[in-house]
Amino acid sequence: MWGRPIRITRLAGFDIKIDASWLLIAGLITWSLSTGYFPQILPDAQNAVHVTAAIIAMVGLFLSLILHELAHSVMARLHGLNIAGITLFLFGGVAELETEPDDPTVEIRVAIVGPITSLALAGVFWLSMALAATLALAPVVTAVLAYLAIINLVLALFNLVPAFPLDGGRVFRAVIWRRCGDLLVATRRATDVSAYFAWGLIVLGLVAAFNAGLGAGLWPILVGLFLLAIGKASYRQAEMKQLFSGRCVADLMTRNVTTLRPDQTLADAVNHVFLAAGVSFAPVVAHDVLLGYVDLHTIRRIDRDHWATTIVEDVAESISADNSVAPNLSAQKLLEKISQSGRRKFLVVEAGVLRGVVTLSDVSKHLDISRQIASSLPGPA
Ligand SMILES: [Zn+2]
Repeated sequence: MWGRPIRITRLAGFDIKIDASWLLIAGLITWSLSTGYFPQILPDAQNAVHVTAAIIAMVGLFLSLILHELAHSVMARLHGLNIAGITLFLFGGVAELETEPDDPTVEIRVAIVGPITSLALAGVFWLSMALAATLALAPVVTAVLAYLAIINLVLALFNLVPAFPLDGGRVFRAVIWRRCGDLLVATRRATDVSAYFAWGLIVLGLVAAFNAGLGAGLWPILVGLFLLAIGKASYRQAEMKQLFSGRCVADLMTRNVTTLRPDQTLADAVNHVFLAAGVSFAPVVAHDVLLGYVDLHTIRRIDRDHWATTIVEDVAESISADNSVAPNLSAQKLLEKISQSGRRKFLVVEAGVLRGVVTLSDVSKHLDISRQIASSLPGPA
């Protein structure tokens, strides 16, 4: 959410990362526990005890969240899905699935195991609390265990709400998916339900804010807004996946590309290639061998007075894994590459030979046409 998450450790083969936004929430929770919850339950204890208990409870919550996400990740791995890692951020955790389940039953299993884990943790903390009480351990121990039992129960219940992409929403989507066989339709229904839920939370938050002050209403409003935003993004992602399924770079690329010769001057390249063909990017080819590319950005860096004397070969960028793709790369992987690198243009290369050029606008043009075709077809009942 805010820049790159920090990788803190590796557990069961998964990278555990923390987003900066989570540190803020962790600080807020520790503060509110040490000034609110613990002083209320243990009024006779010293301030240092409240702070220590708050920090221990915070670490317990942290481990509980990790275990919840670890459960999703292990179940996903058991079904052959790749997990990039686990990241804790503002509203909890997320297990980053590199590949989405292809089958609703797998999706249900991967989604449901998280809340089950939180429920089991709530039970374990509850039993430990009962044991601590019977053994007459210090009241602060019981207070910390009670907090962890309650917070895990809340986590389990909140995640079971059928709002996509919460776990309950994923289960809900998978059930519709299994019934109608269309992931996109199922995603749309799940995000619709999720939007009702999100608006409900926002209204609830506003009512609470009017009656009990902004502090009381802020949390439901924030969660509601978050669910609305992420629901839309998830739908768009599912739509993209469907429209691009089975497509690869070769289906999207521009084949007849105007190329440059290495011995051409920049003045010649600008007049006869960039301006004439209306392109901002041109591969450099000599005797069918791809040497690199030149773009307007490169040309602008050279003083205009030197354009007549500088040749293409001297300024061309060479080909690398960053700026080239294979024609059989899937459209989905191309999109990932675009979003990860921020680069919008790629040379399509096969065994050192130029096959074409693929750009972000090729991708959106294709998406736009596919969307129009999809909307003109009769939809599933
Ligand atoms: Zn979960």
